[in-house]
Amino acid sequence: MDAWGERLAGVRGVLLDISGVLYDGGEGGGTPIAGSVEAVARLKQSRLKVRFCTNESQKSRGKLVGLLRRLGFDISEGEVTAPAPAACLILKERGLRPHLLVHDGVRSEFEQVDTSNPNCVVIADAGDGFSYQNMNKAFQVLVQLEKPVLISLGKGRYYKETSGLMLDVGAYMKALEYACGIEAEVVGKPSPEFFKSALQEMGLEAHQAIMIGDDIVGDVGGAQRCGMRALQVRTGKFRPSDEHHPEVKADGYVDNLAEAVDLLLQHADK
Ligand SMILES: [Mg+2]
Repeated sequence: MDAWGERLAGVRGVLLDISGVLYDGGEGGGTPIAGSVEAVARLKQSRLKVRFCTNESQKSRGKLVGLLRRLGFDISEGEVTAPAPAACLILKERGLRPHLLVHDGVRSEFEQVDTSNPNCVVIADAGDGFSYQNMNKAFQVLVQLEKPVLISLGKGRYYKETSGLMLDVGAYMKALEYACGIEAEVVGKPSPEFFKSALQEMGLEAHQAIMIGDDIVGDVGGAQRCGMRALQVRTGKFRPSDEHHPEVKADGYVDNLAEAVDLLLQHADK
């Protein structure tokens, strides 16, 4: 395993994706991925710094953490980098008043934001809220703006729930981009600003950190473009073709988070 020793040398912190790495969402909240509860606990007992970096945009951070704690994970809100709070900072900084096309579960994150007379649209994983009517309303807000601003919480194509793969916000973001002839601003993975804010919160440089995710493009490719290393787990939305992706090659592929943590505890920070 010398190869792993080289690949993991100098790692001092780990960024963990949540959906598809810790658990698969679905009916009744979801199911932990085998070995992941113990793997997070072992990481937290180690010298490695740990932070959670998610594109979850159906639930507020509080609700997500509550769910994960019920599933047995040792996790608190302050340890999670999530797109909704990051988007709120951007809205405030730029004086933007959003029309929200989001799931009711995440609406509380925007309580402090002025949504009157909207001058932009924020789109997130709205689930069943992605009706024609709601998409058309977002289109109508954008198209009447002189400079349409569309902010998308992540741009994933799909994610995994216990019942199967689920269409994600990226597909709807693309529809609005196409209809309005604009390009969305993505808040969340794979945006470099998002990874950088997670690194900053850990107090680490990119070369000292490794991302572990199930998304070859959003997690692995995004983290590597920021100078981090990245492992892909063969859980969640992973598909065998990911290991031959034309553009992205992970620094390693592991069966699950438990295997990743085994390797990290053996080889990292040496
Ligand atoms: Mg994921």
